[in-house]
Amino acid sequence: MARIIILRINHRPFRDKRITTHVALTARAFGASEILVDSEDSELEETLNKVSENFGGDFSIRTGVKWKPELGKFPGVKVHLTMYGLPVSDVVGQIRKETASKDLMVIVGASKVPPEVYDGSSFNVSVTNQPISEVSALAIFLDRYFQGEELGAKFQGRLNIRPAASGKNVKVLPRDDECIRILIDHGADDRLLKHSRAVRDFAVGIAARCNADQKLVSMGALLHDIGRTRTNGTDHALVGSQLLEEENLDERIVMIVQRHSGAGIPKEEAIKLGLPEIDFIPETLEEKIVAHADNLFAGDRRITLAHCVENYRKKGLDIPAERIVELHRYLSGICNIDLDLI
Ligand code: SAM
Repeated sequence: MARIIILRINHRPFRDKRITTHVALTARAFGASEILVDSEDSELEETLNKVSENFGGDFSIRTGVKWKPELGKFPGVKVHLTMYGLPVSDVVGQIRKETASKDLMVIVGASKVPPEVYDGSSFNVSVTNQPISEVSALAIFLDRYFQGEELGAKFQGRLNIRPAASGKNVKVLPRDDECIRILIDHGADDRLLKHSRAVRDFAVGIAARCNADQKLVSMGALLHDIGRTRTNGTDHALVGSQLLEEENLDERIVMIVQRHSGAGIPKEEAIKLGLPEIDFIPETLEEKIVAHADNLFAGDRRITLAHCVENYRKKGLDIPAERIVELHRYLSGICNIDLDLI
């Protein structure tokens, strides 16, 4: 897939800040990888970097570039958007073909565009032959180029919007420091923080060995025991997941927390324990990792599988102990190492 780079020329920081921000936001959301802006504008860079941090993706911005050498040395296909060019519907198929094995640079002007750009571009492309905004020209060009597929692109950032018929539904993937802040705000003491960090470090190590989502594991592990700020009963996992739902945390973190007790609790056992009639069995790899990393800690001290199992058996919990052995085997298998050895 071609990398798409936008070259924004004649950007005047005082006059064009807002419109260039919109060009960059549109480029990012419609599938471009990078925008190059020909005047230095640290505020613009900051705005875009913040958007990427919050909403995800790996879009990058460079300002203060010299547009002539950037245009000249670009080895791929260069498309200049101008109302004087050939209609987008006539040339987009050819551009798609030529970018099957080459990158694509899309040039949009802010003020008058010099003739070298017309001459130095592979295609001069119009989106109607009427003057329109560079934002709409870029959006329509990219949409035609991707044939609408870019609209379904997945981004994952701190803030993740869930489409809603009304109102706003935003789920949060907190940074590590935010997880700690959430724990402290809910009253976590030093002991709980130490345990959470220790489980997190171990869980992330497991995740790294078996290609699991390390960020998700880190967040889930840091927050797995947040329910203990309310109760130390068997319901602490459920209570913790409810607290995180109230904080609008991403569903995957909520489920990691909800399913982290032992190697999980099946519905029939849950009912006997006075829990709701649902399965609390970890299903995803990340859920399994956090549940079992927690099994192998007493406070912030690592314990072996044998030690953990013995603790369960002493309490007459033979079946849950068996499930833990099974989970240990499963994770050790996919990590190619007995977890007791790491
Ligand atoms: N007045 C400037 C000129 O004559 O070059 C253009 C200003 S225009 C608002 C800014 C940019 O929008 C242009 O450089 C071009 O990239 C883009 N643009 C405007 N109308 C367009 C159209 N109909 N088709 C494609 N691009 C267009």
